[in-house]
Amino acid sequence: MLAACNSATPAPTATSAPKPTQSPPTAAPTIAPTATAAPKPTEAPKPTEAPQPTATPKPKLSVATTVEPLTNIVYNIGGNRIELVGIVPPGTDSHTFEPAPSDAVRLAKADVVFVNGLFLEEPTVKLAKANLKKGAEIVQFGENTIKQQDWVFDFSFPKAEGKPNPHLWMNPIYALRYAEIAKDTLSRRDADNAAYYAQNYAAFKTRIEALDASIKKTIESIPANNRRLLTYHDSFAYFAPRYGMKVVGAIQPSDFAQPTAKEVAQLIQQLKAEKIPAIFGSEVFPSKVLEQIKKEAGVEFIDTLSDDALPGAENAPNHTYIGMMVDDTITMAKVLGGKPDLIANFDVTNSVK
Ligand SMILES: [Zn+2]
Repeated sequence: MLAACNSATPAPTATSAPKPTQSPPTAAPTIAPTATAAPKPTEAPKPTEAPQPTATPKPKLSVATTVEPLTNIVYNIGGNRIELVGIVPPGTDSHTFEPAPSDAVRLAKADVVFVNGLFLEEPTVKLAKANLKKGAEIVQFGENTIKQQDWVFDFSFPKAEGKPNPHLWMNPIYALRYAEIAKDTLSRRDADNAAYYAQNYAAFKTRIEALDASIKKTIESIPANNRRLLTYHDSFAYFAPRYGMKVVGAIQPSDFAQPTAKEVAQLIQQLKAEKIPAIFGSEVFPSKVLEQIKKEAGVEFIDTLSDDALPGAENAPNHTYIGMMVDDTITMAKVLGGKPDLIANFDVTNSVK
């Protein structure tokens, strides 16, 4: 199923809306006697007053997002007062994801479509634009978080192609900005719940600031010479500088195909020369060349870093953006000689109650 982590909470519109079928048995008898007791013909026929259609609550704001981490950030602001759907299925490569025709239906229902932007979800944005209902909007987090001069280009996202590394959310401070954009957008579209969104943002902000401090402390526990990342998928370009780490390279080419034999050979040389203890991969991007690199360069290969997929099962307490960031930090600290215990007990649950 496509509904992301937010599906942990019941979709309450159906259940919370007062069901008209429930009221008649008790309501009907009380109405009937007054009708018969009042003989005046002028009083009786006011059919508009009886069914009370105004009792139906306003429908919730319908919100679509793309990848799981962003869906979870928006969930922590909108809570159960929005209808939230994530378009990119869990565990999917978001960079090459092509939405299905059924996603057009989901996007057509949305009042707001939140996307990372920075060219990450181009097919989804295109489909959203083509199907957006009147008055609906697409909000791009990335473009509203950093200026073009701060875009990072690198091996997997070369400047020549003009599309920057889009993984801003891997820096918690940027993720907090995403949450702020979500808060502002939801409040503008749904002013009745603005106080609720503001309160959720405040709680998320407190947690993210604590997360940022914990990551900092944990990464600092890694010996300085080991604070280097060589990853298969290039998703730590905005995380690394925040915590004094250096991305020494990424293996995945810009077209997301497998690296060439020449590229692999260069990489093995680099690994040996720089004495890098490990290469980090992710389950979303399996690659045949990693075994070869591991064998020839004699380094560890850890395939559990994540930037797209949240940890745990869909309803698990750690199935959150924060859970993913904590897991990644633990993985790095373990492999690179730091102290994973410094962050191991961090509260990874959703901050929204
Ligand atoms: Zn990615």
